This record gives sequence, structure tokens and C-alpha cells, in this order.
Amino acid sequence: MKTQEKSFILKGDILFTATMEKFSVFPQSYLVVVAGKIAGVYEQIPAKYLSLPIEDKGKQLIIPGFVDLHTHAPQFQQIGLGMDDELLDWLEKYTFPEENKFKDPAYAAKIYGSFVDEIADSGTTRSVLFATIHSEASQILFDLLKTKGLSAYVGKVNMDVNCPDFLQEDTEQSLIDTEKLLNAWAGDALVKPIITPRFAPTSTRRQLEGLGQLAQKYQLPVQSHLSENEGEIRWVEELFPEDKAYYKVYDHYGLFGQTPTLMAHCIHLTDEEIALLAEKKVIPVHCPDSNLNLTSGLMPARKMLQAGVKVGLGSDVGAGNSLFMPQTMVRAIQVSKMYEMQHREDKALTLPEVFFMATKGGGEFFGGTGTFEAGAAADILVIELPQQKEVLTVEEKLQYFIYNGTKSSIKEKYVAGQKLR
Ligand SMILES: [Zn+2]
Repeated sequence: MKTQEKSFILKGDILFTATMEKFSVFPQSYLVVVAGKIAGVYEQIPAKYLSLPIEDKGKQLIIPGFVDLHTHAPQFQQIGLGMDDELLDWLEKYTFPEENKFKDPAYAAKIYGSFVDEIADSGTTRSVLFATIHSEASQILFDLLKTKGLSAYVGKVNMDVNCPDFLQEDTEQSLIDTEKLLNAWAGDALVKPIITPRFAPTSTRRQLEGLGQLAQKYQLPVQSHLSENEGEIRWVEELFPEDKAYYKVYDHYGLFGQTPTLMAHCIHLTDEEIALLAEKKVIPVHCPDSNLNLTSGLMPARKMLQAGVKVGLGSDVGAGNSLFMPQTMVRAIQVSKMYEMQHREDKALTLPEVFFMATKGGGEFFGGTGTFEAGAAADILVIELPQQKEVLTVEEKLQYFIYNGTKSSIKEKYVAGQKLR
């Protein structure tokens, strides 16, 4: 019965990116979904699919759902606050006091509830999230995502040093709590755990070591932050003089590509460090709104792509100011244009490139989604544009939506073939 529900055909103006170079465009075609996976896009329905139910979406645009590879669910309430500060002051003044409130499960349920509604409304079908250090609140976030039908990796944050007392965990207890939570969710099809040291400065060597062992033991992915802010980089070098470079701290403890790894920001890396990202298949997550809001710097995305690095995109709320991934795409292009104006050899990113990052590129972290190629999990958005925009070509409709659309343009969402309410 369930399999049948997830088998259907949508007709409309279909667009996705199979590669970064260009859009694959299928005007007035049929997207065939069988048992929650994409079977293909066709101009005529193949005979074997003729028995499936068909929904005609008219001139509406049909695109893959968005993937947000880096955001902080507990910072939803602090969007826009403290943006005149840089990273370390902003954490101290705004983020840590806000995250402390998540020791209260009722507060967590309220904020996480609105966060989960907002990502669903924004067309984000898959996301990789930081929670807080609190197990009970993290459990609430897992449950809310599951109930909503969204897919995500959720990380209970680990911090046991260099943070306010109220967020400082006991090292061994933190590892026990993390293992308990990941055991509870490791087998879920859509909502999964991810190992999440906040960043090198707020973990002791013992905590990093324990987290690396958990990642290895359960073959779990890892996420953290790397080289966001110059003050932060100097601090890491003082705290871990034996490792000599920020990334080496993670590498030392098995948290840098030993299992699939996301590193948010990666703004101030040397050419050798960029080459290492490629070699170790570590994915830097570009968070362009955050680059600007916290005056951190401009991530050299073109340079990374040219070095063979796979670059992801993240909203990074609350250092980012919106969970709407089209805004992140536009900002990524704008940041790369600023970068090009300073470094002429590094050309700005194109719309197909950032669209790929926010769909198929990020979708690879989830085992293959964000595209309409056969076999991908069927994460789908149906977009309605104002009537006067119907004269645009399919590609122009997409351009219009990314630059001018809002979440209210998104009429339908599907995750793995399941329609979200
Ligand atoms: Zn972050």
C-alpha cells in the first residue's frame, strides 16, 4: 500500500542539474516516481508506467528539493541578532545564552517546532543540523523532523572546555549521552545521527578522541567548523600547538575524512589545505550569508572547485539570516562575484553551479537525491509563479524563482516520494 502511494507521475515544466555545467530542462514532460525513487523524466509516458496516477501541474515548475548542509536549529530564535559582532563575541553574547535555554524541553519543543515548520515551508527536504549539548532537547528535534516527514542528520553538540559553565559537559558523560542517542536513531531511514564537536576550541583532546572513536565504531559521518575567522584560527593554534594547523586537530582524532565529513566555512585555507580537502574527500560547506554577517571573509569557492573539492551550501542560521535556500544560492553567487573583483582569475559561480550544490551535490551526502536521474530518492518541489511569468522559458522561470521567489511560491513538497502536508 505504502509503495503504491509513493508511485505516481507529475506533469509540468521540469528542471534539474545532472552536472554542475548546465541545467537539464524538460518543458511539459512527465516525472515518473516508482516506490519513492525517480524512474525518469519522459516526453511521452512509457507503456509500463501508464497505470500510475498522473497529476498535471500545468505551467508550474517541478524541481528537486533543497539540501541545507549546515545550520543550527537552536539558533532559529536569534536570527538577525548581534550581527555587528564577529564570531567569538557573537557566540559569547548571543548564541551560548540562547542555547542554554534548551535545557528546558518545553522551550526546545517550541523553538524546534517552529524551526522544523520553517525548513519544510522553505522547500528544504534534507538538512544537516547542529542541536545543542542537551540530549533530551536533541531527541525532541529528531522526533519533530520524523513526524514532519523530513530527512536530516542531527548532531547533539559536544563541548567540554572553553565555553560558559552552563554549556560545559562532563567529558565522559558527554560521550555516553552521544552514544545513547546515536544508538536510538542509527537505523532510521530518514533522520540520522551525526558526530558533532562544535569546533576544536570547545573540546578537550579526550573528547575529540572519544568522538573520533564513536564515528569509527558506528561508521557515522562527522560535522564541525573549520577556519571561519582569523581570531578563531589563532586560538586553535594556541590551544593545540602540537597539531600545527587547525584541520590537523580534527585529522589527529579521526574526524577529518575517516568517515564522510562536513566542515562549515573553510574560508581561510592555504592552497595545500584545499588540496587536502580534495584528497580526503572532506566537504567544505559554504555559508555565504554567514561569511558576510559575521565579517568572517569570502570563501574561495571557485578555487575549491578547481582543486577538485566538492563544495556544499548551508544557510548557517543564526549567523545566516534565512533558511530559504534560494537566498543562500543568490548570496553564494554574489560573494563569488565580490571574490572575482578582488582575484580576477577566480571566476564567479554560475546559477547552475550553485543550484547543483543545493540539490544533487548536497544530496550525495544523503546517498543520492536532489536530481531527477533514475534511482535518486524522489525529493520534489512544485513551484507556482505569477501568471505573467508563464511566458518565460523553463530556465528563466527557475532564474526568476531563485532571485525573486518566496516560500509561498512552493505549492507541494515530496521527500522520498512522500508528499508533505
Ligand atoms: Zn555553524
